[in-house]
Parts: sequence; structure tokens; C-alpha cells
Amino acid sequence: MLDTEKVWRLSDLKPGAEFAKFPLAVFGFPIAHSQSPKMQNAALRELAKSDSKFRGWAYYKFEVAPEELKDTLKAFHDLGFLGVNLTIPHKEIVLDFLEGAEDFAVMARAANTLKRTPTGWKGFNTDGFGLAKAVELFCGRAFRGSDVVIFGAGGAARAAAFKAAMDGCKSLRVFNRTKSRLDSLLESLRGAGFSAGSLGGVGEIKAGSILINATSVGLKKDDLPIVDFSAIDKSCAFFDMPYRAGGETPSVEAARKAGLKAASGRAMLAWQGAKSLSIWTGREMLGELMLNALDSDT
Ligand code: NAP
Repeated sequence: MLDTEKVWRLSDLKPGAEFAKFPLAVFGFPIAHSQSPKMQNAALRELAKSDSKFRGWAYYKFEVAPEELKDTLKAFHDLGFLGVNLTIPHKEIVLDFLEGAEDFAVMARAANTLKRTPTGWKGFNTDGFGLAKAVELFCGRAFRGSDVVIFGAGGAARAAAFKAAMDGCKSLRVFNRTKSRLDSLLESLRGAGFSAGSLGGVGEIKAGSILINATSVGLKKDDLPIVDFSAIDKSCAFFDMPYRAGGETPSVEAARKAGLKAASGRAMLAWQGAKSLSIWTGREMLGELMLNALDSDT
């Protein structure tokens, strides 16, 4: 049986390669860092305790280059895979290769979860759900009725912005380094009927806001905090999408030091994964178990 911890490439697979009977996979480029097999296989082992059919399920990680994505999806369908997760750089380009997608994935213009259909794949986006759940559990806040500020205008920011808007936030402001990308996100939001504006500076952040960092700032060890938290009211909550093994991000540390409630992206990872698994299995979400599986690794 193929090793679920190893990084696989389609070209590594010998004819007749032995997958689990019901295989799942994550595709990325690179993918070696992905913790998804650890948490997904922990959840599958838990499901197998009460239902023996899940003993035949396993989750693998595959390095797939963007130009290989279309053919790899076809090959995995032929191999009998039930579901696929996608990470950088596949979430947006995959939309061209799907039979259909749920409304949220279409709006966010990204899918991170694919479910097998008889003839292809259907796309879902569970990042927005994972974010909202993590903000609720670890910052004690809900988007509904809140002023929300998002830093970033890439794929993760799109999912965050549409989730906040669809959940009924009171106001939505976005800040991004590159103006053209900011304008494109604001245009999409307004095109979908949501009201959203740009954030001119820290002084415009209202007391009680939920702040989301959806940029890559924080992934590197020497990154500075995304914003000067000492200038922000303590009643605001801060959620940092980046996360680090074995420690907090510079932004989370600075936000807490300034008195804000703050959390980083591990819980989002766990809950987006829990939702993906629930889409594939039809079973309840095991987000807490998946978060524990991630934490036990650090
Ligand atoms: P992306 O599409 O490449 O977007 C990157 C964003 O970061 C853009 O807004 C970019 O601004 C901004 N940025 C990059 N370097 C910057 C810098 N030095 N200063 C200011 N802004 C900078 O990436 P993505 O897929 O949206 O992912 C963004 C982050 O979210 C990543 O850290 C990723 O790990 C994290 N994420 C976490 C989860 C989770 O489950 N926790 C899920 C998804 C994503 P420009 O437009 O100006 O380039």
C-alpha cells in the first residue's frame, strides 16, 4: 500500500500501484510542507473506529505542477479517487477543469476541494468556512454584524472577503499593496451586490473590528507585523491566515502584546480540512480532532 506521508508524483506510480480502496489526495506545487495528510488520516482513523468502511480510506499528497493539473485530474478520476484538495498554485486555475462548482467557489473564483462525480469533478471552497469557524472559536467573534478589515487581495483574501460579505458583516474594508489587485477584488464584491471599500490607513479602523491578514506576510521568520497594532483599539480582534510550526506569527505576537485577541491560521487549516472531509464522507466535521493532530506534530 502506498505510504501516506511520502510526497508522490504521478510519474512515480508504477502500473497497478496499490492505493487504499477509497483514496483521497492533496495536490500542490510545492507540497512537501503540507500537513493535510496528517490531519485527514487522523480523522479517517477516528471514523473507522465506529464504521469499518472507513478502514479502506486514505489520503495522499502529490506534487503536481500547474501544467500537469488537467491531465492529473483525469488520471485520478480513472484511478478511482473520491476527492482532492488543492493548494498553491491550483485553487484558481482548477475552475477551468471542473464539471461544476458551488456558488461560493464561483464567487471566490477558487476551489480547494473537489468531489468526484460519475464523469468528472465538482468544486467547493472550504477556506471561507474554515476562516469563519477559526475566528469564532479562537477570537470569539462572528462576521455577522461586524466591521471587517482584510489585508491582502489574493486568493485567500477573496475567500475571506466573500465569506465576510455573505455572512452579513456590517462593513467591509480591504487594504492591499498592489492597487490593481485591490480594485479587482472590490469590483468583484460590488459586482456580486456587496458593498466594500478600500482602507486608507490604520486610523480608519473602527473599534471592535475583526482584522484578517490574508497576505503572505508572516510566513518568513523575520517578517514584521502586518500593521502597527499599538495604533489599533484593543476591542478589535485579529486573525492571521499564515501559520508557523511550533510558534506564533510576528503579527499575532504583536497584536496580543497590544491587548487584542488574536489567533493564527492553524485552526483555519484544520476546519477547512474538516469541511472537505465531511463533503467527501457525508459525516460530521472533526475539526477539533484535526487541530489536535496538527498540534501534536509541533
Ligand atoms: P496570493 O494569492 O499569492 O496573495 C498574496 C497576498 O499577499 C497578496 O495580497 C500580496 O499583495 C500580499 N503580499 C505578499 N507579500 C507582501 C508584502 N511583502 N507586503 C504586503 N503584502 C504582501 O496568496 P494566497 O493564496 O492569497 O495566500 C495568502 C496567505 O494566506 C498565505 O500566507 C497563505 O499561507 C495563507 N493561507 C492560509 C490558509 C489557512 O488555512 N490557514 C488558507 C489559505 C491561505 P500584492 O497583491 O501586492 O502582491
